Amino acid sequence: MKTFPLRIGTPDGLLFEGEVERVVARSITGDLAILAGHSNFCTALGMGEAHVVLPEGTRREAACIGGMLSMIDGSCSLLATTWEWKEDIDAERASAAKKRAEEKLARTGLTDREYRIAEAKLKRALVRLSVKQ
Ligand code: ATP
Repeated sequence: MKTFPLRIGTPDGLLFEGEVERVVARSITGDLAILAGHSNFCTALGMGEAHVVLPEGTRREAACIGGMLSMIDGSCSLLATTWEWKEDIDAERASAAKKRAEEKLARTGLTDREYRIAEAKLKRALVRLSVKQ
């Protein structure tokens, strides 16, 4: 299968640079898959499971939480707010974050801001747990 160059970065630095067969991530309008030869394209990323398929067929899974993806002249750049490879996700930490967020959301009298923060924390924890499964 044809490959293309991919760079994955976060504000902390470059996490991946190399040839891949495919990158799959969740954009703000739904899941997307980029293959070699994709037309020029740019989108904002949402929160969800992502993966890359390496040239020998190995699939590496990750949690991707926000950012931008672009495909320009055959080269793909994914700048994520947070990108965690499956093996780097701490499931106990995500479970604890999920529990804290659920407890917060069950309270009454939360401000809109508190509610939105707890909801976002719950979503991030659920994405991490689902990648880790
Ligand atoms: P927590 O309440 O556990 O901090 P959070 O969703 O608020 O969770 P973030 O603000 O999204 O955490 O992330 C802060 C930093 O911690 C980021 O660098 C992120 O990659 C890392 N991180 C958060 N949760 C985990 C986890 N379960 N496993 C590995 N890294 C994590």
